[in-house]
Amino acid sequence: MTDFTATRAAFHIPEGVIYLDGNSLGPLPRAAEAAMARAMRDEWGEMLITGWNRAGWMAQPRGIGDRIARLIGAEAGHVVLGDTLSIKVYQALAAALDMRPDRRVILSDSGNFPSDLYMAEGLIRALGRGHELRVVSPEDVADAITEEVAVTLITEVDYRTGRLHDMKDLTARAHAAGAVTVWDLAHSAGALPVDVAVAGADFAVGCTYKYLNGGPGAPAFIYVAPRHAEAAFPALSGWLGHDAPFAFEQGYRPGAGIERMRVGTPPVLAMAALSAALDVWEGVDMAALRSRSIELSELFIAEIEAACPTLQLASPRDPVRRGSQVSFCHAEGYAIIQALIARGVIGDFRAPDILRFGFTPLYLGTDEVRTAARHLAEVMAGRLWDRPEHRTRAAVT
Ligand SMILES: *Cc1c(COP(=O)(O)O)cnc(C)c1O
Repeated sequence: MTDFTATRAAFHIPEGVIYLDGNSLGPLPRAAEAAMARAMRDEWGEMLITGWNRAGWMAQPRGIGDRIARLIGAEAGHVVLGDTLSIKVYQALAAALDMRPDRRVILSDSGNFPSDLYMAEGLIRALGRGHELRVVSPEDVADAITEEVAVTLITEVDYRTGRLHDMKDLTARAHAAGAVTVWDLAHSAGALPVDVAVAGADFAVGCTYKYLNGGPGAPAFIYVAPRHAEAAFPALSGWLGHDAPFAFEQGYRPGAGIERMRVGTPPVLAMAALSAALDVWEGVDMAALRSRSIELSELFIAEIEAACPTLQLASPRDPVRRGSQVSFCHAEGYAIIQALIARGVIGDFRAPDILRFGFTPLYLGTDEVRTAARHLAEVMAGRLWDRPEHRTRAAVT
C-alpha cells in the first residue's frame, strides 16, 4: 500500500499553489536541498578532486541508473545517466540505425516531441547515407511499420494530448518487420508502470526532471537491452564511454555494456538532487500510482466538462489510453493558462491551442483537483482570461 500522504510531505509546494505541471518540471523534493548542500560542502568542498573516488562520483551514473531501472522495468546494470534527453535520443537512434545498415527509414509520429525529430534530422545529415525520417500520424504508426523501416523512434506518451501508445504491441510489430525500436519515456517514467524488458524494447531513453522530480537540467537516462549491450555502437564516443578512460589511449575502444553510452563528465551536483528525488520513489507501487492518477484525471475531466462547455477534451477519453496528463483545447488557451497561473493553479500551454494539466499522485489529491477545476470554471465563466496582461507571451510557455 503506497502512502501518498508521506510522499506528499516529501515535497515543497509553494503556499497557495496547486501544481499541475509536474509533467514538465517536477517540484522540489525537500531532501534535495540538503543533499545538494551536503554534496557541495562535504564532497566538493572538502574532498576536492578526490571526491571522484571517495564520494563515488564516477559510479553515480550507473548507480542511479539502477534505481531508474526499477521504475521502467529494466534489467539492473543496463541503464546509465548523463547528458540531456536530446543527446540520449541521438545516441540510441545512431546505435539502432547501425544495427540495420541495409535499411533507410526512421519511422516516427507527429505526436513526437520536436526535439526527437530534430535530432533525427541532424543525425541523418551527419550520416549522409540517405536516410529518410518518415513521420505519420500516431494512429497510423502500427500500419506504417513495414520492412523498409530500420528504426521506430516513438515517444510512448504524446506530450500534447497524453495519448499512450501500446509499447508491447508496437515493439512486437517492429520486430516482426525486422525493425529496431527506440522508445522515448519522457512522459512515462514516473507517470505509469513501464516495463521495457517485458515489452522487448531495444533502446529506451528518458528525462528525470519531469515526473521523476530531479530538478531543472537533471541528467537523462538511456537503456540498452542486454542482448545489444556489447554490440551497440556509441556514436558519441567520449572518453568516459571508453573501455579504459584513465589509460588515456590514443584511440577509442567502447566500454563494457551500458558504460559505452556515457560521454563525458557526469553532472555530480545535479545527481545529488536527483538521488534525493529518487528516494521518494522507494516503496511507491507503480500500479497504485497509476490507479490514483486515473482517479485524479477522471475527476478533473468530469468537473471541467460539467462546468466549461467551451473546453474540448484533447486527450483520449479512455484513461487506459492516456498517460498521466489531461489536455483540453481552446483558441485562447495561452491566456486561459495565464489567468489560472495568476490564481495559483499552474498548468501549461502548448501551441497552438492546448491547455495541459499533469496529475501526479505523489503530491496531488482530490481536494486540489477539485479546487483547480473550480478556478478554471471561474476563469471561463467570467472570461477572466480576456485581459491584456494574460495575452503577453513570455519566452518559455
Ligand atoms: C521533455 C522532452 C524532451 C526534452 O529534451 P531535453 O534534451 O531534456 O531538453 C525531449 N523529448 C521528449 C519526448 C520530451 O518530452
